[in-house]
Amino acid sequence: MSAWHRERWLLLLLISIGISGVWWCPWPFLPLAAISSALFLLNLSHALRLRDWLTNYEYTSAPSATGLWYELTHLIQRPLRRGQRYQRRLQAVTDRIQDSTSALQEAVIMVDRHGNLEWWNHAAERFLGLRSPTDNNQPITNLIRAPEFAEYLETERFNTPLTMPSPMRKNLHLEFNVTPFGRNDRLIIVHDVTRLRQLEQMRKDFVANVSHELRTPLTVIQGYLETFEDMSDNLPPQQIRMIGQMQEQAGRMNSLVRDLLVLSSLETPDKGNPNQEASEFIDVISLLEQITEEAMAMSAGRHTIHLIIDTEEDLQGVKQELRSAFTNLIINAVKYTPDNGHIDIRWYRDVNNLCMSVTDDGVGIDAHHLPRLTERFYRADASRSKATGGTGLGLAIVKHVLLRHQGELMITSEPGSGSTFTACFKRTK
Ligand code: ADP
Repeated sequence: MSAWHRERWLLLLLISIGISGVWWCPWPFLPLAAISSALFLLNLSHALRLRDWLTNYEYTSAPSATGLWYELTHLIQRPLRRGQRYQRRLQAVTDRIQDSTSALQEAVIMVDRHGNLEWWNHAAERFLGLRSPTDNNQPITNLIRAPEFAEYLETERFNTPLTMPSPMRKNLHLEFNVTPFGRNDRLIIVHDVTRLRQLEQMRKDFVANVSHELRTPLTVIQGYLETFEDMSDNLPPQQIRMIGQMQEQAGRMNSLVRDLLVLSSLETPDKGNPNQEASEFIDVISLLEQITEEAMAMSAGRHTIHLIIDTEEDLQGVKQELRSAFTNLIINAVKYTPDNGHIDIRWYRDVNNLCMSVTDDGVGIDAHHLPRLTERFYRADASRSKATGGTGLGLAIVKHVLLRHQGELMITSEPGSGSTFTACFKRTK
């Protein structure tokens, strides 16, 4: 039976009582007023109970009602129940995501666009000492108090991760990866890279120790070879040739050991800043003049070499390291440029940087080699590099020196037309 049907019988009953009341009663307005008031109070009580229930519908059940009020209550209840079911499902999904991220080995941290902590998992408490709920909404840089971390967040260079010791335990090394999302909110994922660091350190130590140990036997061999060379008047030509080849190979090995030792000294366990005590203002012009002279001596007139000075601004850094980087770039230009080629060495500045560029019109490099050129022993053309006596470590040394001076190496090249290697450093003035 519909609500109107049920209500109709109640109304009919009340109207007939009213009419009979009017008929029998000497004051007819009295029964009418009594019935209207009764109807009003009945509806008011339904409305009040409905209101009370709606303000607290999550915790109380719907009020019992009949007729139109029953139908209204039912109509209101339907979307509310649907909403509650949806909310429960959403909560279950959220709980599951939180459970799974809590079980992760990596620390996961959510930071809002003002840099305040929004959410983090258990690993973040272990690695970084975050405390729940006291640290909620606190600025993350107040809790992870490391200048390099604050600088990393500020400069927003998130394509390379930041590695630094944990603020909790110095022997725990952490790698921070930041992904911006939403309206400049950030998701920070932190990996424990202690084991990787240890292995990397073992590799560095091994290379440094082997290179160091090779130096003494190599010096002895070279000494004997020189003695043989002095006695070459008494030796048959075939043996003289053999001694010459042995000397050449010993010389190459010497260069290899020297370059490996340079690389080992550049790979310090700290984050790679040059030793502050050794850092000084360097007269780059005279340094480049010296290296250009060395390059001219090596070229022996086979190339036209120009030194172009466009700025007199000095560079702050470790002289020995910068000499090594610039020499490698300039000597490479001599090595990989055929006779009668041109080499331009330029020292200039732009708005933010001081740059040293070396441009040659030599053999050039295929584009697919460029991203890997600074890897150790990587060669674009192995046969040519062997012929020029290269160790394959020159550009790796350049990369490390620039890293330690917050510099950057840019390479542009075209096979057959030549290359430009540009080392840029941030201006301090
Ligand atoms: P190498 O001792 O073999 O020269 P480097 O690390 O200095 O090692 O250079 C790596 C490779 O990059 C070289 O083997 C060479 O193929 C290429 N290369 C470097 N400089 C130049 C250049 N100016 N022109 C052409 N190729 C170059």
